[in-house]
Amino acid sequence: MLTALEERLLWQEVIERDMAATGFSLLQPTAAASEAMRCRDVLLRHEVPVDDFSVRRLFGWDSDCQRFLTWLEHFDTALIQSHLATQADCLRACADVGSSESNPGETVDLFHCYDLQPLVIAALDRQVQARSISPTEQPETALPPLTTFPTRQAELAEVARWAADRHRAGKGTTVIVLADMASDRALLEYALRAEFDCLDARYNELPVNFSLGMPLSATPMYRSLLCALRLMLTSVDRSDLLFLFTSPFLPLACRSEESPQLLVIQQLFALGKPNLECTDIRHYLAKHDPTSPLISIIDRQREELRGRVQLGLGEWHSLFRRMLEHWGWPARDGLDSLEFQQFDRLDNVFDDFESLASVRPEVALSEALNLLESVLNDTVFQPKTEATAIQVLGPREATGLTFDAFWFCGARSTAVPGVPRLLGFIPAALQNQYHFPTADYASMLQKSEVTLQGFRAASIEFYASWYQFEDGVEQYPSPVFPSCSTPQDIPDYWLLRTSAQRAEIPIDILEDDYGIPIDAEDGTSVGGSAILREQAECPFKAWVRRRIAVSAPEPEQLGLSPIERGNLLHAVLYEVWGRIINRDQLLALSMDGLENLVRGVLDQIFGEHIHQDVRRRVGAACLELEALCTYRVVLDWLLLERSRNGDFQVVSREDSRRLDLGGLTFSLRVDRIDRLASGEMLMIDYKSGGVGSASYWFGERPSDPQLPAYALSQDRVQGIAWARLKAGDLKFIALGGELGLNAEKPLSKQLAALGLPPETTWSQVLEGWRDALTNLAAEFGEGYAAVDPQPRACDFCDLQGVCRIRQPPLSEMPS
Ligand code: SF4
Repeated sequence: MLTALEERLLWQEVIERDMAATGFSLLQPTAAASEAMRCRDVLLRHEVPVDDFSVRRLFGWDSDCQRFLTWLEHFDTALIQSHLATQADCLRACADVGSSESNPGETVDLFHCYDLQPLVIAALDRQVQARSISPTEQPETALPPLTTFPTRQAELAEVARWAADRHRAGKGTTVIVLADMASDRALLEYALRAEFDCLDARYNELPVNFSLGMPLSATPMYRSLLCALRLMLTSVDRSDLLFLFTSPFLPLACRSEESPQLLVIQQLFALGKPNLECTDIRHYLAKHDPTSPLISIIDRQREELRGRVQLGLGEWHSLFRRMLEHWGWPARDGLDSLEFQQFDRLDNVFDDFESLASVRPEVALSEALNLLESVLNDTVFQPKTEATAIQVLGPREATGLTFDAFWFCGARSTAVPGVPRLLGFIPAALQNQYHFPTADYASMLQKSEVTLQGFRAASIEFYASWYQFEDGVEQYPSPVFPSCSTPQDIPDYWLLRTSAQRAEIPIDILEDDYGIPIDAEDGTSVGGSAILREQAECPFKAWVRRRIAVSAPEPEQLGLSPIERGNLLHAVLYEVWGRIINRDQLLALSMDGLENLVRGVLDQIFGEHIHQDVRRRVGAACLELEALCTYRVVLDWLLLERSRNGDFQVVSREDSRRLDLGGLTFSLRVDRIDRLASGEMLMIDYKSGGVGSASYWFGERPSDPQLPAYALSQDRVQGIAWARLKAGDLKFIALGGELGLNAEKPLSKQLAALGLPPETTWSQVLEGWRDALTNLAAEFGEGYAAVDPQPRACDFCDLQGVCRIRQPPLSEMPS
């Protein structure tokens, strides 16, 4: 008999073959396979005569249903050819075998079995004498009114408190039944752990049994197994890579914040690729962490996979085992009891994996890994725990059991009885005619009523509850219950708990805006001018970024990142101003000459300056487009420079220099310095992205102190300017007198426009900058790290999770 996974894979194969043969296409063949599997099972169990003309005619009215009939025929043929059967086929066989015997032997009592499908009843009738026993309805077992809670969390918290109180008082068996086990289990478990204080150290001491386990693939141990094996593919995604480096079940866990693995991760993420190739991982490991065991693992993988494309599942099994041995999985010393139970399932997992050979004889590596993941998804891990007084069950598991006290949670109308759902590949008329359970609201309601009556009759104490709002959307109580109470006046559980704990624990608040001061050796650079900008924007930002070096990993990039585009533009301009060094040369060039010069520079830069990784990631078409945009911007910019009305000579490009401020040394790289007709200097910074106004250079904490810092690093400076190189908006934003730029106002008017005294001289401007920047440098050196952002400093800052600027102060948190 096929397992559910084998059956689904066979359906998938049938559907994929049909798609290949007919050109019919589906967005999600896997989902279609699951739905088709469900439909065939229901048709068989309800003994629908699919071969009847009248039934087939109904299927013919809908193209999806019609297609399903074709698949159904192919699937049945595949079963016969392979001598396989599904669970429903086996029931059919049981119903057929022995049909001639009039007196089956054993007697079987069916307790609470009110929704048996016709095929099951037929099979039972042929094999045994079945008697149905239902709970009798008595006046004292009438269902009580529902208790109403405002939210799911409030309801589950109250239930957890009730169960914990009963347990502490030794009041006998307690059961909690969750109408929606999938959604509520994790929240209830958390609430129970909080009640029993089993969140951390005493994690395994929770005195609760959950009837439903979790898929093995969701356990950290098996997730690490999948991540490790997925590295055999040519690339891994970012989350898998992080898991490889952090899982305690693999030998790569980062050992300290100084770990070279952090540098490797940082550099891999900086590539901007959504999937990271093994060759890149190996390259950066060899560079920064040459003793990493991952290098030999990657080499071993290459060797193992050489020349192997399609293999049988048995061969993939052996290879996976060898790789896991090489990884040393699970690398953790001393597995605890839960982990040991999980590890113990490995042989069964691989047995199930190999058994899929009946439907997938030979597959490629990626499919073998998908199959292994499917097996792990389908293998539910239910830890063996001590017998305890508290049970958490789903409605099906609780049926027929008896308890001292019983609480039914989540009795909303959408869960009890639920919402009717038509199967996608079976005509609706047929589903109604045969009373398919999921299509018939009346039978769903009746089934829920009988189930709950059974629970009520089997418990001494019985409670039931629901919650009124889910994500702000109003819910409705289950119609199975006679009425419901007014909402419980309970504030949100999590805040309640926090405030209760807060009341018990005195909190000392220590205001300390200073980190450790810098002990810089003379002349040792602490970094670039970006430190001053960040210190001005928000001291905490500068401290976190520059002193403890925390930043978010680079995000994935589609195309070139803004930094990569800026770097290319800078490189092109560097080269252009190496070939044209003054205004006379610029004016001497004809338009054709200018165009040829820019084209030549672009060919050189785009041919030589782009790393292979970036080329592979963005593709040739994207680079061509970028080259075209850069060509237009640079050409237009040179035309603008040609219209400058003063003489100039480019005397420096990308010049490195040092600046001493407030006892610290900063390293600067100035994009360009022009000597003007007066012999004085103009400091220029290229800006391809957003740029502010000249007011950003002033104030006690200038928002953009980069150009002022450049000005302080050079003698005989007459002005500073941003060269704004944005397509359609090219201009100089400058400050200074007689700079030879177009439409230039006298310095006094420029200063007045900025709200500064017009009589201020240029040397006073420079002095002002020296004072402001010295203060910023001194603050940084002293470790001043207050969370004190300037307006808009937080807009694009990725440190909000660290500084908690959006979180209200503790004293203002709701009680
Ligand atoms: S988010 Fe705002 S307050 Fe927080 S570090 Fe960044 S700039 Fe400072």
